[in-house]
Amino acid sequence: MIVAIDGPAGAGKSTVARAAARALGFQYLDTGAMYRAAGLADDPVAADIRLADGRVLLDGRDVTAEIRTPEASERASVVAARPEVRAAMVAKQRAIMATGDWVAEGRDIGTVVAPDAELKVFLTADPRERARRRAAELGLDVEHVLREQALRDERDRTRAASPLVPAPDAIELDTTGLTIDEVVDRIRELAGC
Ligand code: C5P
Repeated sequence: MIVAIDGPAGAGKSTVARAAARALGFQYLDTGAMYRAAGLADDPVAADIRLADGRVLLDGRDVTAEIRTPEASERASVVAARPEVRAAMVAKQRAIMATGDWVAEGRDIGTVVAPDAELKVFLTADPRERARRRAAELGLDVEHVLREQALRDERDRTRAASPLVPAPDAIELDTTGLTIDEVVDRIRELAGC
């Protein structure tokens, strides 16, 4: 079974997807980490990107910490707009999820990577709440994060290649004011597990 969790930055995707995978006993795929690693590569299409035991390897180099910087976020969102990069990432992601049960998080899992996913959840949250969470996580100023987030959201939503939109059969879940446990419980219910 595949559970697709898509949505904008700061909607709680990573925390929720990881916790949902644990609760369901599924494997977890963070596709954003792949775009982040691609953004650091000299050649994002040919780059050897591997996710193993919570670490991210780019051409054999551990970039787990480096991909989380604000600069890497920006580079990921730029590189993710290139169709040839998306094609390479989608192929890798489909190969990874070819067997077993997965909770995969990203922007295009339900629309492009796994359009046949049994459950598609589109997580949203109020923009200020999203910026507040991100700022707390990274120790940055909320207003600064809010501005950067608006730019990144706009780029993700309006790009020609796989814009960030919910799949027609996705269930939208607004996480504003909900705890992680409440969101995970809802996903378990929806997954029928
Ligand atoms: O989810 P995360 O913030 O780590 O993703 C970083 C960037 O990678 C996003 O801003 C987006 O541009 C891109 N991305 C994407 N498609 C995905 C996952 C991430 O375009 N499936």
